[in-house]
Amino acid sequence: MIDVHCHLEHEKFKNNKELIKSFKRELKAVITSSPHPNDFDYTLQLKKEFEGFVFACIGLHPEYIEEFSEDTLDAFEEFVKEKKDEIVSIGEIGLDYFWVKDEKLREKQKWFFEKLVEFAKTINKPITVHIRDAHEDAFKILEAIDFQKVHLHMFGGDKLIDKVMANEWKISVGPIILRSKKHKRIVKKLPLERIMLETDSPWMKINGKESMPIDVKIVAEKIAEIKKISLQEVEVETDKNAISFFNLELSY
Ligand SMILES: [Zn+2]
Repeated sequence: MIDVHCHLEHEKFKNNKELIKSFKRELKAVITSSPHPNDFDYTLQLKKEFEGFVFACIGLHPEYIEEFSEDTLDAFEEFVKEKKDEIVSIGEIGLDYFWVKDEKLREKQKWFFEKLVEFAKTINKPITVHIRDAHEDAFKILEAIDFQKVHLHMFGGDKLIDKVMANEWKISVGPIILRSKKHKRIVKKLPLERIMLETDSPWMKINGKESMPIDVKIVAEKIAEIKKISLQEVEVETDKNAISFFNLELSY
């Protein structure tokens, strides 16, 4: 299985190479999402160290919007252009109205998001999108830019499934599916070919405990149960989706 969204730059994993090595026994690959420029170098170094197993996603997370300026954006674009071949996705980027309540900062988030999606389209890199309490606005931006390589991580916009379908976007499902009816509904409605696995580890908790990338197994079991198919089918299809969407060159 493949965890398409976790955070190996987090203190829990940082410099714990043995722990990351242990994931290799159970997973084909992990994509680690670096949400802040402070972590970009570490993330790419990790990617190099675990070539063909750890893949890098680099972005400017909307939660940190207050810190970012136009210079941050310029530097980001320069960095990504230079490291293009070492990065499988731009993210996480998006809108977060749960943590950011200030109207001006929300406008700034939208401006950044739009610029980042446009940039991704120019260099033809997939994007990994974080949306919290802002689905309508985020979808408006995504649809206006008309870009298909969109991965909606931990997607919870159950009323917008038709748009996900029509635009040929992909979603990833995480441990939240164990407790959220909304997320179960989304998995039931969307065909397997649109679904990938994630944990958002270690941020996402399972029964009060920080999750680990290997917890994609629990997520896959739940998807199999909801869709009334075998675990193996979930594994094979979600792997295929992740490999082709992010163009992963696995080492095996
Ligand atoms: Zn995340």
